[in-house]
Amino acid sequence: MTLAAVQERIATACREAGRKTDDVTLIAVTKNRSLDDIRRLIAQGQKDFGENRIQDAAEKWRVLKAEFPHLRLHFIGHLQTNKAKEAVALFDVIHTVDSDRLAAALAAEMQKQNRNLPCFIQVNTGEEAQKGGVLPRDLEKLFHYCRDEKKLDVQGLMCIPPESDIPDLHFALLHKMSRALGLSGLSMGMSADLERAIVFGATYIRVGTALYQT
Ligand SMILES: *Cc1c(COP(=O)(O)O)cnc(C)c1O
Repeated sequence: MTLAAVQERIATACREAGRKTDDVTLIAVTKNRSLDDIRRLIAQGQKDFGENRIQDAAEKWRVLKAEFPHLRLHFIGHLQTNKAKEAVALFDVIHTVDSDRLAAALAAEMQKQNRNLPCFIQVNTGEEAQKGGVLPRDLEKLFHYCRDEKKLDVQGLMCIPPESDIPDLHFALLHKMSRALGLSGLSMGMSADLERAIVFGATYIRVGTALYQT
């Protein structure tokens, strides 16, 4: 697979779902990838990139962002409160807000750094103990805290379905919860299930593996 092949999969899925290709943004996940891999994607016109660890991302992306200021970097991993400062400085979108504490830390940093980043709330749709994300029953409260008290620019919801499940139920649930809150952004779908995510309204899909397979 290449970037072109993944773009083709997205275009086909959008056509079949009766959606506009422009409404789905591909985030190229570059965790554990070399600078050369990333530069190749940039040269092919890719603009949105995702990383799940601050430390790994910082080394690569301080250089790349200085060189290519138009790129957008998405944070898609578990974020510790004490890393909020670095996250706000380096990233352009945060996909994994999942607690009051984190929301408060991010809001304080954004104010300090005068950067108002778009955010997504991660929902643990599978209620897995080891996974990040707010439980579905606690979502509404966290959403109001983020938006109304902390003034975060919450654009939508994000989920990572359990590996053993068919993803459709999780995508459908996330879609339903976002609608109930009046949100339009949906960050869901990876290499294996991006077509299903597009059917259920994904606006950001996060793809790693499929971009690098040959
Ligand atoms: C690694 C990762 C992806 C990409 O997964 P692939 O199966 O390699 O496409 C998507 N989202 C998150 C949160 C990830 O950590």
